[in-house]
Amino acid sequence: MAKIKMTTPLVEMDGDEMTRILWQEIKELLISPFVELNTEYYDLGLPYRDQTDDKVTVEAAEAIKKYGVGVKCATITPNAARVEEYNLKQMWKSPNGTIRAILDGTVFRAPVTVKGVEPLVPTWTQPIVIARHAYGDIYKCTETQVEAGSKAELVITAPDGSQKVLPVHSYNSDGIVMGMHNVDSSIESFARSCFNYALDTGMSIMFGAKDTISKVYDHRFKDVFNEVYEKDYKAKFEQAGISYDYYLIDDAVQRVMKSKGGFIWACKNYDGDVMSDMVASAFGSLAMMSSVLVSPDGNYEYEAAHGTVTRHYYKYLKGEETSTNPIATIFAWTGALAKRGELDGNQDLVDFAKRLEKASLDTIESGVMTGDLYLVSTLENKKKVSSKDFLLEIQNRLKTAQ
Ligand code: NAP
Ligand code: MG
Repeated sequence: MAKIKMTTPLVEMDGDEMTRILWQEIKELLISPFVELNTEYYDLGLPYRDQTDDKVTVEAAEAIKKYGVGVKCATITPNAARVEEYNLKQMWKSPNGTIRAILDGTVFRAPVTVKGVEPLVPTWTQPIVIARHAYGDIYKCTETQVEAGSKAELVITAPDGSQKVLPVHSYNSDGIVMGMHNVDSSIESFARSCFNYALDTGMSIMFGAKDTISKVYDHRFKDVFNEVYEKDYKAKFEQAGISYDYYLIDDAVQRVMKSKGGFIWACKNYDGDVMSDMVASAFGSLAMMSSVLVSPDGNYEYEAAHGTVTRHYYKYLKGEETSTNPIATIFAWTGALAKRGELDGNQDLVDFAKRLEKASLDTIESGVMTGDLYLVSTLENKKKVSSKDFLLEIQNRLKTAQ
């Protein structure tokens, strides 16, 4: 079989620890034998980020802007212990944060569902994709403790210097206060990313906020979503046969619980932070959660939702064989290859990505799986294998499927 060619490069961002090992093996066993891989490679592994003063992360993000599609391996976000472990020049920022700031994107987390790993909510027969607005609110707030007898006020100074003073609270006892903000441009980008992703995937979308209580702040979110939808997306949604609905957040939650799945749930920053963990754990395993960053101007970055699986890596370094689940990383690659193929009109590449996804899921459904799934799978004939054997099994299926 001739290998599939790629006309435009894919931005490839390597990473750290166990996922860096899986990264190489996935490329070597599942992609390179079938595709003439054309990537622009950026090493986001911590040693090289340190060596380049983290410039490599910025260059990778710029490359995604240039080519439109990237695939990223999980990376270490350094803390004090990592600074010591890797002898770092400084505690570099989270690469994901840096890339997100440059692309101005929204992260969509989608569970990979498979027979034998049943969601904890029995009605959820299809994935629920969570979109989290990753800007502002309590994540960029100013807060302080307040002494009894104090008065807290909100002061807004207009460009002309005039001031508006709004009372917050007069304190009879000790307490706390917080000021937080958001901006229309960020909410609008968020809305656009959500609507684009819905059109891309053919899934309907719902958004929830607390506009009845927060009549200005949360209501602004609702209004911006509605304005963007009415103006630029309504017609496209009707044509695609999908819908956009706004619900009060409480109502959204009860609808999600009773749903069959198969839709996108757009969340404000805090709701998305909390609900994505609930949805991920209810779908079985973090190792089965893929993630894509979509920018409002149509750039895509695919990755696994989990981290570098440090505990497994330390075992690997001792020479032990690990049974780390590569599915989310495989799906990062297939997502990116399919998107590259779609943008380039390269149907062979799109088809290959789908074949690789199917071979991966068929392998698990045949009973061959990594340790994390072995623990939760309800299949009777299940067998736990090492990461390498799991990848080889997928490769076998891919070869026979050709
Ligand atoms: P983690 O790498 O997601 O792993 C936490 C635990 O979850 C693992 O010890 C393992 O449990 C299980 N797990 C996660 N992925 C798995 C997989 N593919 N197969 C099997 N089990 C899996 O989170 P962490 O240990 O908190 O963080 C490690 C490093 O990753 C940190 O340096 C952090 O900065 C980084 N991180 C990066 C990203 C990113 O790049 N997007 C995201 C999160 C964290 P058992 O040990 O019980 O088997
Ligand atoms: Mg969270």
